[in-house]
Amino acid sequence: MTRPPSASLLGDLASLLGPKGFTTDAATIAPWLTDWRGKYQGAAPALLSPATTAEVAAIVRLCAEAQVAIVPQGGNSGMVGGATPDASGHQLLLSTRRLNRIRTLDVDARIAVAEAGVILSHFHDAALADGLRFPLTLGGKGSATIGGLVSTNAGGTQVLRHGTMRALVAGIEAVLPDGSVLDGLAPLKKDNRGYDLRHLFCGAEGTLGIVTAASLRLVPANAARQTAWVGLATPEAALHLLRRLDAALGRELEGFEILPHSCLDAVLRHIPQTRSPLARSSPWYALVELAGDDNAALNAAIEAELTAALAAGLVDDAAIAKNDSESEDFWRIRDSISEAERAEGPALQHDISVPVERMPAFIAENPQRLAAAFPGVRALSFGHLGDGNIHHHVQPPAGPDGAAWLAEHGAAVSRLVYAHVLEWGGSISAEHGIGQMKRDVMAELDSPARLAALRAIKAGMDPAGIFNPGKLIG
Ligand code: FAD
Repeated sequence: MTRPPSASLLGDLASLLGPKGFTTDAATIAPWLTDWRGKYQGAAPALLSPATTAEVAAIVRLCAEAQVAIVPQGGNSGMVGGATPDASGHQLLLSTRRLNRIRTLDVDARIAVAEAGVILSHFHDAALADGLRFPLTLGGKGSATIGGLVSTNAGGTQVLRHGTMRALVAGIEAVLPDGSVLDGLAPLKKDNRGYDLRHLFCGAEGTLGIVTAASLRLVPANAARQTAWVGLATPEAALHLLRRLDAALGRELEGFEILPHSCLDAVLRHIPQTRSPLARSSPWYALVELAGDDNAALNAAIEAELTAALAAGLVDDAAIAKNDSESEDFWRIRDSISEAERAEGPALQHDISVPVERMPAFIAENPQRLAAAFPGVRALSFGHLGDGNIHHHVQPPAGPDGAAWLAEHGAAVSRLVYAHVLEWGGSISAEHGIGQMKRDVMAELDSPARLAALRAIKAGMDPAGIFNPGKLIG
């Protein structure tokens, strides 16, 4: 059981961190008390912004002694309310924004050590300046931090080739619940000393400790890149196209995203300076990204594949980006979907996965199940078809008060979606994590054996429950 922080603890933290690292000013703290989607609102008596691992360790030692809860926060762009404190006003918010150094970047070893608060797009720029690339990107790259990406085991649009964050983390430095520092930054290829603590922190959502830095794998910067926007009739056709491209260009195929026309429409309406890549519309689109060494060869290969797919009637139409700027325009549409959907009005978001082969059938069948149980709801699915992971959004029936409808029926709608996902061997969280949004539904629907193992790990590592209570499993 945790306790509210005493005035004496707050005084000790203020002296430890100084005015740059400690505030109780309500106006300064306020922007960090709501999650990105605006679903959760919390309270915190103080915002702690340590600048070094030693300061994080000192904070944790003081809080562990006083049994006060800590909520780690990076860019606050997570999708499941994981970085939002509860409403008690007893939990301290620990921001990593000042832990923002890239400590080393070894060009020959292709390994960088970045602190937890380094923003993803800054990390991309730093790698690029040395001719390298960090092959994980997502729509929130301007705010998501290395610590947040590790802690949610983030995915994004290049998982098809490079894997999720877990595959890119070569080492971890973290402060454990007693204030000790786990120094696991050495990028060891082989290390069989039992449980893999590095992987345990990937996806732990701040419940086991505070990640202060990570060793991250880099790849050579793209010498060549081709991006195509393809019009299609169905997700099934998209899966066929994916299989063809994978067979012909497997090593070069880096991303394969799908979206329905309604998503494109929402982006064009809400996001300035966007335009459709194709003159005529199709029910579905695929966004295909290839990366390799030789631009002319890549261009010839994708053109040949798409021409053959057109001739076979598999695709309706296709456009290949003429240059980097046009590639960025295509990707801007994909990366803006979440923002455009948010502007469309309230909806229930489900970040789910099923085996890739079953995804087109899920996209077709789930809306039918929903419509039968909740007449008038509209479901739309977009995202990472190549990973068997889509974002499945359910909008309330048309009417004046969609938010009230969702408040009344939302939990039952989500249960129907998740039950379908589990029935088909999938996961109720593909890449966003559990946070507070899915904690209860996971506790209800997940396998008892898996839940018991997660609880045992949490209880063993953080017996007082000071790290991010109320999230994931706590
Ligand atoms: P926060 O939101 O601050 O925190 C997320 C979780 O990690 C919380 O539980 C928090 O307590 C914990 N945490 C943060 N830092 C630390 C730390 N140093 N130590 C321990 N725990 C910590 N995600 C994807 O996977 N794929 C996508 O395609 C994708 N697209 C997105 C598009 C948009 C427009 C946006 C806004 C978000 C998207 N996301 C996506 C979600 C988001 O970017 C990721 O979840 C990201 O990892 C969040 O990073 P953050 O720094 O904002 O973390």
